[in-house]
Amino acid sequence: MSKQLIVALSKGRILEETLPLLADAGVEPVEDLGKSRKLLFDTNLPDVKLVVIRATDVPTYVQLGAADLGIAGKDVLLEHGAAGLYEPLDLEIARCKLMTAGITGAEPASARRRVATKFVNIARRWYAEQGIQAEVIKLYGAMELAPLMNLADEIVDIVDTGNTLRANGMEPRELIAPVTTRLVVNKASMTMKHARIKPLLERLKQAVAARREDVAG
Ligand code: AMP
Repeated sequence: MSKQLIVALSKGRILEETLPLLADAGVEPVEDLGKSRKLLFDTNLPDVKLVVIRATDVPTYVQLGAADLGIAGKDVLLEHGAAGLYEPLDLEIARCKLMTAGITGAEPASARRRVATKFVNIARRWYAEQGIQAEVIKLYGAMELAPLMNLADEIVDIVDTGNTLRANGMEPRELIAPVTTRLVVNKASMTMKHARIKPLLERLKQAVAARREDVAG
């Protein structure tokens, strides 16, 4: 096993909030991630490298050991499943909610409900737990369009401010899970590279705690 630590970061919204936290923990890329088309970056620490990939690919990289550590939303982790992964730290960033939503004022369909989502595993599990019969339809984006186009009765999606739903004549209904960004670690790496991972984990923990105190104070 190589001595390097590879950290897989989720692109997009999460990345913007991750980089300052990593910097607080003493890890900084040597070039601007936003200005480069590269996907693999050196950092100020000679043995730590960053890869920037799609959020939904992060659990796969870490699970299979291509990356030792990963940073991914709880939504992605719930959808992917957690085999082969430790989840030792809640980074408390990119806070949002996984919710069901439907057309404002419309009664939820009482019989078999058609549900459009990219979170098919989460949706199947949740509707089954509620005892609601659901036909889950996989979409890759623009979930809000599905009820308007009569493709589905409801959607399961991420809600932050609710503006996206409101702009499309929809309202949030049930909370499925609160979501924040988590640090995940490959199980074998945690054992084999413990001496290297532990201090990094500690610094990240301190960075998260310091921010929490900032917000409280
Ligand atoms: P909002 O209009 O503020 O409710 O934001 C909803 C949209 O923003 C959703 O459709 C998501 O695609 C995206 N979004 C908001 N927060 C997050 C997050 N923490 N992680 C990933 N996507 C998010």
